[in-house]
Amino acid sequence: MIPSLQPIYNNLRGLYNNQEFKIIEEAFLFAENKHSGQKRKSGEDYILHPLRVAIEVSKLKLDLSSVSAALLHDILEDTNTSSEELKDKFGEEVLFLVESLSHLNRLKHKANYKNKTIGRLENLRNLILSSAKDIRVILIKIIDRLDNMKALWALSPEKQVENAEETLEIFAPICRRLGFNFLGQQLEEMSFPYVYPKDFAEIKNRVNNYYYEIDKYLDEARDELANFLKQKRSKFIEIQFRKKTFFSIYKKYKKEGDFNKIYDIIALRVIVDTVADCYTTLGLVHQLWLPLPNRLKDYISLPKVNGYQAIHTTVLTNNNQIVEVQIETDLMHKNNEYGIASHWLYNLNKDTKSYTKRQNVSGLSILFKSLKNIDFQNTNSGDLYNLLVKDLLAEQIFVVTPKGDVIDLKAGSTPIDFAYKIHTSIGNNCKMAKVNHQLVTLNHKLQSGDIVEIITDRKQKPNKKWLEFAKMAGTKEKIRKELQKL
Ligand code: MN
Repeated sequence: MIPSLQPIYNNLRGLYNNQEFKIIEEAFLFAENKHSGQKRKSGEDYILHPLRVAIEVSKLKLDLSSVSAALLHDILEDTNTSSEELKDKFGEEVLFLVESLSHLNRLKHKANYKNKTIGRLENLRNLILSSAKDIRVILIKIIDRLDNMKALWALSPEKQVENAEETLEIFAPICRRLGFNFLGQQLEEMSFPYVYPKDFAEIKNRVNNYYYEIDKYLDEARDELANFLKQKRSKFIEIQFRKKTFFSIYKKYKKEGDFNKIYDIIALRVIVDTVADCYTTLGLVHQLWLPLPNRLKDYISLPKVNGYQAIHTTVLTNNNQIVEVQIETDLMHKNNEYGIASHWLYNLNKDTKSYTKRQNVSGLSILFKSLKNIDFQNTNSGDLYNLLVKDLLAEQIFVVTPKGDVIDLKAGSTPIDFAYKIHTSIGNNCKMAKVNHQLVTLNHKLQSGDIVEIITDRKQKPNKKWLEFAKMAGTKEKIRKELQKL
């Protein structure tokens, strides 16, 4: 093993017992062998990248198949390995994950979004989201992107901007949409300097010194609050402090138009056990420090639309610093960072029950309310994925033309719908269709992520039977119109 690999390898090994690690090690040795001699643009040995992705995937508590898939995620594209070989060695589940990841990359490369209108971006996000089929695929893809963003410096300036834009416009919003706020925030922060260099420089200029000086002060404020809570015999799990990321400041500045209106640049975050503890803690914070008027927000009783829950108050500390204090339970904290997937990721089923019991109904987020009966322990990653993108998949599917345009169709659509959606003449002359390079019949049901190609023939004319194949009203109308002319 190359020396630089050893500590990272040990890191992964340390996360598992011997029996579990046997499975992972097999994937590792296979990947190490297949990638041997390959270097990344940064100059490091290629295997370091999948190894780091596997470690982060492990930390998210994903299953062993996901960790193996993380180790093998670039194997199909970058080495001479066949799907059969993967299936023989690692089984169908690992193959499914690795193939799905490769398919996402193919789609992404195909659907380049040169004309970056808002609609096209939304379509591309939907395409990726609806093609993944399993929440583990999305999570591994995001972790992969995070690691690639860390090596952005090694690319050409054009590639840097291109990748950062894609991260900011496609992958970060996908994270936000699924409630993976913690990951989305990291992606945003890493892309920001490349996509909006001037705004980044301005915010950094304004905030950097302040952030540098504020550390010592926040430490003191945290100790002061911790001591006060202990003195009052009020229980808390921990007090963190958080500085707003540069990109969040940028977003808020765009909204408010004034830096002085951003009150939550620095915040103390108090994590407690129960909802009752949240309100007790709020009272004590206001005893210790002077609250600013009209700054109290109870997102426990009235959660934000995205499900976020906490109490926010802004105070003037004894050192005359304005600080926001955020109070939340441990479960709210996980929910805020990882969305409903946190209940699945961290196997919180046992706690989930007490979570629902402990909170009054009005305190449940809108999102959580509809999902509170889910048994997360017995929900597999495919089902969880369906739940998260249900609203999207129920109505629409997203497919790609050979040229890379993303086309949205009604769920249940066939190649006939696709052909007419591209152009009436293509519909009228539609002879055959290929889906993912395989010939299919014209009544074939398309799925999100399919690459669809229509073979036309000028002699071909619409057929009455097509009306049975067509799913969309618009398609039927065009076929009827054409039939009348014949
Ligand atoms: Mn990769």
